[in-house]
Amino acid sequence: MQISQLQINLVNKQIQALTKAGSFYGKKLAEAGIERIETAEDFEKLPFSEKSDLRDAYPLGLMTAPEEDIVRIHSSSGTTGLPVIIPYTAKDVDDWAIMFARCYEYAGITKKDRIQITPGYGLWTAGIGFQNGAEKLGAMVIPMGPGNTEKQLQMMQDMGSTVLCSTSSYALLLSEEIEKRGLKSKIKLKKGVIGSERWSDKMRQTISESLGIELYDIYGLTEIYGPGIGINCQYNTGMHYWDDYLYIEIIDPVTLKPVPDGEMGEIVITTLVKEGAPLIRYRTHDLSKIIPGECPCGSKHPRLGTIMGRTDDMMKIKGVNVFPSQIEEILQGFPEVSSEYQIRISHLDGKDTMRIYVETNGHIDFLDLAKRIATKVKSVIGFTPLVKVVENGLLPRSEKKTKRVIDERYD
Ligand code: ZN
Repeated sequence: MQISQLQINLVNKQIQALTKAGSFYGKKLAEAGIERIETAEDFEKLPFSEKSDLRDAYPLGLMTAPEEDIVRIHSSSGTTGLPVIIPYTAKDVDDWAIMFARCYEYAGITKKDRIQITPGYGLWTAGIGFQNGAEKLGAMVIPMGPGNTEKQLQMMQDMGSTVLCSTSSYALLLSEEIEKRGLKSKIKLKKGVIGSERWSDKMRQTISESLGIELYDIYGLTEIYGPGIGINCQYNTGMHYWDDYLYIEIIDPVTLKPVPDGEMGEIVITTLVKEGAPLIRYRTHDLSKIIPGECPCGSKHPRLGTIMGRTDDMMKIKGVNVFPSQIEEILQGFPEVSSEYQIRISHLDGKDTMRIYVETNGHIDFLDLAKRIATKVKSVIGFTPLVKVVENGLLPRSEKKTKRVIDERYD
């Protein structure tokens, strides 16, 4: 997805504001000797922004608009060290609500819907993002926040909620509770808008079937407004994102060069009209791809594929970037194997090798299955792995998160 001239003009305005505010990015630009850009090639020379840059700016170093224009801050949960504080102007808050309302519209939600919001409110962007978008749309908001399942279910019945906004795990819990209590006939839910954590197709199917609702994935991160910068439409062919507010590129996380549309890499986001804290080429470390071509819905907004994990999970084998989620996705296409697998990477006789262990039952031809999986893997990642098929139950399992990738090259 090459950057358009209109987007370049907007980036120049963001650059101007960042330079004027003397922010970390203004300094990066000064070091790189860049004042403005003219072409797509120029854009690719702009320095990246990292989460650590944002942390170093704590508490209010990202503030790019005059302080009297800042109306709110949000903060991303810092698992390590200082959190990131993002200041918003009134226009930023409004733009975010417009984007979020568009998400609801893409999910076929209207002002006649009643939207029950279960993500958290507070410093976090989730709850309030879902709420402002719903109010912008004109729907009725039921602002529950997280937890208190008893009350959630009561309000869901009494208010006749038609849309559930939640994380996938909470949606699953609610669906199980509804089933357990035999409440399904009293529930009016039609749609679920689910936050952008990675979740399996199996979980999606379970929630969708048990509640009898359509599910939509919403994408976003606190550093870039919050949730609501993209969502899938009814055709479910990837998440449309709002290219009038953001420019998204996919880069190779090792070479840092953009990859062609359709190829997996790291999502890098540039804000186009943000005032409180514009960000240029922000590395999200989320893995996905741009879906080429046009969506059957006719929308011109480009699409991102499902988030396939984090760049930290990436392995470099035989010079090729491989993500465990790619292998997992391929294996899910083989109903005869169990959900357990193991990937071992080793270095033998000067060459990298990748072995994939999978399980199946005794009725399957092991050699034939191994061959079919190896062929499929080669077609996706470009080289042939050694596939070993074993009896069900032979791969290690653990109570905690099972270690599925073992890299023996550096032992
Ligand atoms: Zn579409």
